[in-house]
Amino acid sequence: MTAIRAAVCREGQAGFSIEEARIDAPRAGEVLVRIVGAGVCHTDMAVRDRQLPVPLPVVLGHEGSGVVEAVGAGVTTLVPGDAVVLSFASCGACPNCADDAPAYCYDFGLHNFASARPDGSMAISTAQGPVHSHFFGQSSFATHAIATERNVVKVPANAKDVPLELLGPLGCGLQTGAGAVLNSMAVKAGRSLAVFGAGAVGLSAIMAARIAGADPIIAIDLHDSRLALARELGATHTIKGDGDVAAALGEICPEGLNYAFDTTGLGKLIELAFGLLAPRGILGLVGASDADAMLHFNETSLMGGGKRVMGILEGDSDPQVFIPQLIEHHLAGRYPFDRLIETFAFDDINEAFEASESGRVIKPVLKVSVA
Ligand SMILES: [Zn+2]
Ligand SMILES: [Zn+2]
Repeated sequence: MTAIRAAVCREGQAGFSIEEARIDAPRAGEVLVRIVGAGVCHTDMAVRDRQLPVPLPVVLGHEGSGVVEAVGAGVTTLVPGDAVVLSFASCGACPNCADDAPAYCYDFGLHNFASARPDGSMAISTAQGPVHSHFFGQSSFATHAIATERNVVKVPANAKDVPLELLGPLGCGLQTGAGAVLNSMAVKAGRSLAVFGAGAVGLSAIMAARIAGADPIIAIDLHDSRLALARELGATHTIKGDGDVAAALGEICPEGLNYAFDTTGLGKLIELAFGLLAPRGILGLVGASDADAMLHFNETSLMGGGKRVMGILEGDSDPQVFIPQLIEHHLAGRYPFDRLIETFAFDDINEAFEASESGRVIKPVLKVSVA
């Protein structure tokens, strides 16, 4: 047992309360990580606002980075002192995990949203009782987290000068955008890509599109400041989302879009993007919609044009492979993801969420402890 401080999300409470708590020693296959930084992602908000059925009370946070403090029995790839990034969890045994597609693990819900070990036990407790842990295999809005060897990625030695607290978002939001472009859609050089929504996921996609050599790269958003940043990060064209987006895209790409990437989850925009695809065009979707939302496409256009609509989770990443690749791109100056980040003190977690919701900050990261 280790004494920790954790941001707890409780029933009937507006924001998070930072509480004194205790965390278990790591069990077999588990790793105890002292958290240095933790990114704020929309999925955390969705749980806080009860849009996702995660049991309460819970410690959220799923973009943690930190230093390994202890490892449980059977852990062979990590030792205390390792700098690490925490990512989503997966079972390692189902057909999709066997196919190196852990984001589509058959037990994704159990390992990421049930917020307990697969046997139902929880790693965190306060004086009031047990608190759900293992959210996305980590629960990193705390000074310490219990993760599993499988979802803890070692930071390459040559990245020791990159501030460790900035690396956590690579574990979810940033790998989602970059992976959608580089892995899922496998965007080709010289082909057009339109990105709907220039938040953390969309801007990460734009940086990755520049790496892939896509051209033109078009960013669509409602905020001028985000469109300006999109241009600096690789967008060749920007379109204000409150105008005639279809007409503007038609002018830039009269033959249609080779790739469209939606981060908004808005049905109207998704259907608009589908209608603008070129023959063999691919539309990638990562935005969260209402649970009962439906989409309408023309069958003849989909079939006759050889078009594809892809649902994408976590950018089809195998975090153990893809996160080191993203760090390599960053070190080479091709993936300046730090430009999306603004840091907040851990105790200011509720302010960090507000800054994200108002659109003022693209990717807030909590500084939980010193690297
Ligand atoms: Zn699996
Ligand atoms: Zn996330």
